Amino acid sequence: MKLMAHGGVGSPRELDRHVRMAVEKGCSDPVDALEAVVGVVSELEDDPVFNAGTGSRMRLDGSIQMDAAVMFRGNMGAVGGIERVRNPVRVAAEVYKGPYVFLVGGGARRFARGMGFVSYDTSTEKRREELLEMQEKISNDEELRRMYHMVDGGDTVGCVASLGGEYAAAVSTGGTSYCIRGRIGDSPLVGCGFYAGEHGAVVTTGKGEEIIKNIAAYRCYEYMKEYGISGACQKVVEDFPKGISVGVIAVGEEGTASASSKEMSQWSL
Ligand code: ASP
Repeated sequence: MKLMAHGGVGSPRELDRHVRMAVEKGCSDPVDALEAVVGVVSELEDDPVFNAGTGSRMRLDGSIQMDAAVMFRGNMGAVGGIERVRNPVRVAAEVYKGPYVFLVGGGARRFARGMGFVSYDTSTEKRREELLEMQEKISNDEELRRMYHMVDGGDTVGCVASLGGEYAAAVSTGGTSYCIRGRIGDSPLVGCGFYAGEHGAVVTTGKGEEIIKNIAAYRCYEYMKEYGISGACQKVVEDFPKGISVGVIAVGEEGTASASSKEMSQWSL
């Protein structure tokens, strides 16, 4: 098996050991690449240092809405803006079973409850304090509007794996800071936050709005055919204007690779 996981663009390399622990705990003897990536991303979601599952960033109104997705064997499952579930990636893996591919908001949450996912509060003391600090800085509507334009990525999690000649991708995030309720980023959008096909798998992290416009995960997948896996990761990051946070990890026939505009915690097998 080849596998790589990341803890989000902007997350310090000191967090590599957290990513490593998630990799070690999350994928002992998986039956296929999908089970491996879902296992690892679930562990990363449970670690409060990352912006996914427990420890997800709060929205400007104090709510927590999470996005997650999986892709494997030409099929995908995704959830957008889901609330009060412990492991959004496991809900995405349920969606993957069909007949739908993407569920959002209250409908996604009801689906999760129907599938046995109990209500779970993913907020943490640290995130509540961060939100209060930010809210104290906003004293008028103009400042609030300026905040809308300050969205930036960070600490989202993702994993790619190959096993038995098949490739899988999984991603999970609490979104950017500080975005409004209802905002969906790149993470649950196929070809933007993730892609897995016959030649490899890719997961991205960073400023979702820019990643969506670049269709970054699919571009990286296509670049792999021309530039090889390391070249493809490098090229897709270089395609973004300077100053935009973006990171990518990929797995292909040659192995795993990553590239990012800033520090990005990661671990590979
Ligand atoms: N890409 C994620 C989003 O825009 C954030 C991140 O990667 O940190 O929702």
